[in-house]
Amino acid sequence: MDWESHRLLGKYLCEHFSFPQEYVGWSIAPDIDAKVMHRYWRHRFSTFKELYEEYPKVTEVPTEDKIAIGVMLCSHLLLDIYTAPIFCFGFYFPASHIPPEFIKELLEEEKYPKYELLKSEEEIFKEKLKPQTASAFMGGVIELLASYAPFVPHQRVNSARRAVEEFANVSLSQIYSLREFDAAFYNMLNEFFARY
Ligand SMILES: [Zn+2]
Repeated sequence: MDWESHRLLGKYLCEHFSFPQEYVGWSIAPDIDAKVMHRYWRHRFSTFKELYEEYPKVTEVPTEDKIAIGVMLCSHLLLDIYTAPIFCFGFYFPASHIPPEFIKELLEEEKYPKYELLKSEEEIFKEKLKPQTASAFMGGVIELLASYAPFVPHQRVNSARRAVEEFANVSLSQIYSLREFDAAFYNMLNEFFARY
């Protein structure tokens, strides 16, 4: 997904959870290009720890609240499944949920009104994304992405969950279901790009 969309979701979640707005910077952290294949490795739940070390070296971001950072990184992986397969559980288990009309758009040139798309995205965030807690949101992202990663073994999902728990020092036993958000967001993207 593009950086404006990532930042928009980051901003919404920072407001929702009362995190300082400076944490929005973390919402695009997995996309830094430090070395070859870097993006590929940093779209994994198990590498939040590495990103935490690397990202403040390339940009100014706060580092105190690891729960806020975990939420931002999870929100990045969540939005990315709508545009490309991401290997968040490892090489053989890509997660993706790409609307067919969006694929068509990627093959052609971008000529859609970006502002309108961002407005529609923001509406869905506000309407369909109301997680009770930060940890329930992170648990929900892992659960949803696992459901879109064909054949991913339970152990892989569990170790992704453990990695995030260790990183943010929280328990992810509670899960906020992202099903409603997912359906609404996917359909919005598909209908939006069908018009162009
Ligand atoms: Zn990304």
